[in-house]
Amino acid sequence: MGMNDTYRHKGLRLKLVQELAHKGITDENVLNAISKVPRHLFMESSFVTFAYRDQAFPIGSGQTISQPYTVAFQTQLLHIQKLDKVLEIGTGSGFQCAVLLEMGASVYTIERHRELHLKAQQLLSSLNYKAHFFFGDGYEGQPSYSPFDKIIVTAAAPEVPQKLLQQLKPGGRLVMPVGGSDSQRMILVEKTGEDSYKQTEHGAFVFVPMLKGKNF
Ligand code: SAH
Repeated sequence: MGMNDTYRHKGLRLKLVQELAHKGITDENVLNAISKVPRHLFMESSFVTFAYRDQAFPIGSGQTISQPYTVAFQTQLLHIQKLDKVLEIGTGSGFQCAVLLEMGASVYTIERHRELHLKAQQLLSSLNYKAHFFFGDGYEGQPSYSPFDKIIVTAAAPEVPQKLLQQLKPGGRLVMPVGGSDSQRMILVEKTGEDSYKQTEHGAFVFVPMLKGKNF
């Protein structure tokens, strides 16, 4: 892996993975992926001890890298299979994207903050992770690459954007936090046919808001 990933970091990651399993994450592929991604390299500076605590953390531009439990929980709800084509809204640090790549998915990720978009793109390529990065408004999705097997939104909106549902394959799954600014419900939408959906709720979470338009 190069770039300062040591046995100490690996040890801290294994402890984090045990903590996530203890908190109810059961998908072995998710736990295995989190045990491989060097989260300390996705943070402003290498606050190693913070990086492997199960906590969200600021990443600049007023945004946060999601709590590892939240990343694991959303990823588990997606039922990721190797070669799944996944659309992610909110690249942020790129950590969630790297977890999906470790699971063998191909990832299309959109970020509306140019700085974060560029930084994540640079970091992931330096770690040899290959994703498709887009600077844009996630409310629009990425129609030219649709349909997607899975869609994950890592910012909160008052409702599931219609355009994202249209870009999901029949049989596909979309996971996103839906609600007001204080707290949201984790929503899973399963697309059961060309125009039919089944929606279920999976607990309360707190995310930064999904904002309209690009931020230069
Ligand atoms: N998945 C990220 C979590 C980042 S927090 C990680 O693993 O680090 C949510 C991100 O969503 C922020 O970077 C924010 O800028 C971005 N965001 C908010 N609204 C957006 C929109 N409409 N389109 C794309 N990205 C958006």
